[in-house]
Amino acid sequence: MKTKNIKSILIANRGEIAIRIAKTAKKMGIKAVGIRTVKEPEAHYLTFMDLVLDFPEREFNNIAEFLDIENLVGLARDNNIDAIHPGYGYLSENPQFAVRCIEEGVIFIGPTPKVIKDMGDKVVAKEIAAKGNVPMLTGSEGAIHTLEEVVTVAKKVGYPLIIKACTGGGGRGMRIVHRQSELKQMYIAASSEAAIAFNNSAVFIEKYLENPRHIEVQIVADTHGNVVHLGERECSIQRKHQKLLEEAPSSILDDNLRKKITDAAISLAKEAGYSSLGTVEFLLDKKMNFYFMEMNTRVQVEHPVTEMITNLDLIELQIRIANGEELPITQKDVKLNGSAIECRINAEDPQSGFSPCLGVIKALRLPTGEGVRVDSGVVVGSEISLYFDSMIAKLIVHAKDRETAIANTLKALDKFIIRGVKTTIPFDKAVLNNEKFVSGNFDTSFIENDMDSMV
Ligand code: ADP
Repeated sequence: MKTKNIKSILIANRGEIAIRIAKTAKKMGIKAVGIRTVKEPEAHYLTFMDLVLDFPEREFNNIAEFLDIENLVGLARDNNIDAIHPGYGYLSENPQFAVRCIEEGVIFIGPTPKVIKDMGDKVVAKEIAAKGNVPMLTGSEGAIHTLEEVVTVAKKVGYPLIIKACTGGGGRGMRIVHRQSELKQMYIAASSEAAIAFNNSAVFIEKYLENPRHIEVQIVADTHGNVVHLGERECSIQRKHQKLLEEAPSSILDDNLRKKITDAAISLAKEAGYSSLGTVEFLLDKKMNFYFMEMNTRVQVEHPVTEMITNLDLIELQIRIANGEELPITQKDVKLNGSAIECRINAEDPQSGFSPCLGVIKALRLPTGEGVRVDSGVVVGSEISLYFDSMIAKLIVHAKDRETAIANTLKALDKFIIRGVKTTIPFDKAVLNNEKFVSGNFDTSFIENDMDSMV
């Protein structure tokens, strides 16, 4: 088999994910190359790199370094680096970035630009899903551009409905509409938010499910036509449509439903011509019907819970696929063992609306122990600044079953010491101690309805 032989990777990201990628690169004997920016010249992630390159000085350029396509691609090209790993966020789902990498002879560690583009548009993604017979919520046939169309579609779909930005992400450009009188106002709000955030005001409509669960399937697909799923993740613990705590497997799926939902994810990946690591997101209603929502074409923040229960290195698989190798595993090699929970530890104050807590980390102790993993990008002296997101660490705990995983996560949270900024640790503990969470009987409304004393 002809492979491309990646020997060096430029990591176009920072923080914990840059460290995560560097660790796997080194394990594989690949040179990890990091990027130093003026905003964080002494950042902790740089200490994990085999080589650090300074981001080029720029004049009159205000876009964030990790969004600067030309300078990033230029760094790789000019330093003869074989591949670029975009991590998550930033340019990880930007088809133009992938195009420019390819044009300059740099391997983009991700799917093809076409697939990134297709899946980046939720309407196109749904069209592809329909071809793969993947179940979907009723909604508009395609993108909507006028109020007249909104009114017509709303009549067909009924209330409640949700208006979503076609190229949306991060929970933005989304509005739930409960009655006709709110329709116009919500349409204007969603499309103008989408225009500002994504430079694209196009929206679509689908039926709004009351209190569903968010279940997503991890898939890996190589460039030789092999597609394998690595089970699902439960991501229903969300605040403002943003995930806070994730687990694998989901306590709600039995083997029968797991088979159906993972089959659907594989069908979509095949229909899309997918090749890389990817996540297919679904909503599950109270009657256990699931519906395709969107596909993310990058490594997810919550990928470690899947790594813990499968004992696989997802970044390694992603790099091998980009290298042109065949998947080293088949579906029957994938065994889901035990239960894993991830808590996102953000520098935010849960007592005051989760507002970011800026400052310097004055003391830090990370928990250790059997089944305990911490992916963190900070050390004592690290600054939590407005420039970057507020996630400072992820605690991942793996145990033989869910009950033990919850107990061990609580113990690990107790061992954390973070001084200098407030964190979401007290909130994570409250979730894990909540009876409803422990029973497994929860949905995406959990934080709003069952944790309201803390939000
Ligand atoms: P984004 O790309 O902005 O993250 P998603 O389409 O992934 O947006 O949706 C994020 C969250 O919004 C979901 O996890 C779910 O909680 C909620 N959501 C999205 N669509 C629906 C829907 N049709 N019905 C109910 N909840 C929804």
